[in-house]
Amino acid sequence: MRIVMVGAGLGGVAAAVGLHRTGHEVTLLERAAELREAGTGIAVMPNGLRALDALGLAEDVRGHVIHAARGGLRDWRGRPLLVTDLVRAQQEIGAPVMIERAKLHRSLRAPLPSELVRTTTLVERLEPDSTGVTVISEGRPVARADAVIAADGIGSTLRAQLFPGHSGLRRTGRMDLRGMLRRPPGTVPDLLASQLVDRRSGAMFGLFPVGEDHLYWFTDSVLHGTPPDADEARRQMMSLMADWHPVVTALIEATPPADIYVDPIACLAEPLPSFATGRIALLGDAAHAMPPDLGQGASQAFEDAAALTRHLAGAEPADVARRLLRYDAERRPRANRMMLAASRQSRLTSQTGVAAWLRDTVLRAVPSRLATRQLAALWHA
Ligand SMILES: Cc1cc2nc3c(=O)[nH]c(=O)nc-3n(C[C@H](O)[C@H](O)[C@H](O)COP(=O)(O)OP(=O)(O)OC[C@H]3O[C@@H](n4cnc5c(N)ncnc54)[C@H](O)[C@@H]3O)c2cc1C
Repeated sequence: MRIVMVGAGLGGVAAAVGLHRTGHEVTLLERAAELREAGTGIAVMPNGLRALDALGLAEDVRGHVIHAARGGLRDWRGRPLLVTDLVRAQQEIGAPVMIERAKLHRSLRAPLPSELVRTTTLVERLEPDSTGVTVISEGRPVARADAVIAADGIGSTLRAQLFPGHSGLRRTGRMDLRGMLRRPPGTVPDLLASQLVDRRSGAMFGLFPVGEDHLYWFTDSVLHGTPPDADEARRQMMSLMADWHPVVTALIEATPPADIYVDPIACLAEPLPSFATGRIALLGDAAHAMPPDLGQGASQAFEDAAALTRHLAGAEPADVARRLLRYDAERRPRANRMMLAASRQSRLTSQTGVAAWLRDTVLRAVPSRLATRQLAALWHA
């Protein structure tokens, strides 16, 4: 069957590999001039790794397991609020990994023959009819397919075309600053795999090891007006976090501005009514863009890719719409639950005032065993 994949992000390349390996004739269209993924590190959770396993793509990625005994939430000075036992969670459900985005993308796209990929191809719209779908770029047809998978990311043009009544994206009013650096000597190991929250400002700082010798950090704070450039955002964060655990400002200061990324956070304003319509399906952020707070965006895209590959295995052109409806029925409830959970987590960690004081009091009372069980449940596919 001829399948066109639109968008070569993490979700698009994983699905393209899966569909190619099951014998479909895949074409991957990407608007950028080359296939690549920019920016710092990314966590792949155990559920995402299981999906990559199903696609035969997990082997290289598994080498990047997070080595940390404990994780969870701490206050801005680094004092524990909610402690999770990562060793136990890993024994029960598997280990998350933290890997450079570029490395992950390289590893996922490696099995894809280059002749299947067409870069510098911005897909403008899809024209479905009773026998297939015509793909339009720069005002003219560039491909004809039995099925099209839209993996064109958070700002998906195709989502807007397929669901014109949907309210699209919602800005959360927060910004994320992230950076990666070589691990300086003497970094406090207790803070690794933790997120520090500040009930005074509602800001958050997270710190994760990447391999043996790098660290990935990220902040989440209120976005005032338009997003600042990396230099200005770094200055703002140093000032906001001046009296936090000293490691926080030391790491932000030690990271060159060129290695810092600033993102205004957005997510879908409401769940989509379907991930499939006729011969077209949505995948990854195009289907379920969520706040990054649970580190599940890419893992959910990998679950989509694995499910899509399974549902389209052996499919004939006449069969596509029915198979894609099964994909929708499997994936939409879970991905939408994750989207809601990520929004809840974002609200929880950004609370201020009395609500945040109450939050901290309750979190301190939660036994580590219960917190660990909840984490494992989240990572359960
Ligand atoms: C700050 C931040 C931190 C995050 N941290 C994590 C994390 O730790 N773990 C995690 O799992 N997730 C994380 N995420 C989410 C994760 O990055 C995304 O969920 C994931 O990258 C989505 O992949 P995708 O393939 O769906 O979309 P994308 O990666 O956005 O790929 C879309 C691709 O489509 C192309 N494209 C777009 N429009 C067109 C078009 N019209 N025609 C052709 N090509 C097009 C784009 O150029 C791009 O290559 C984070 C997100 C943010 C913002």
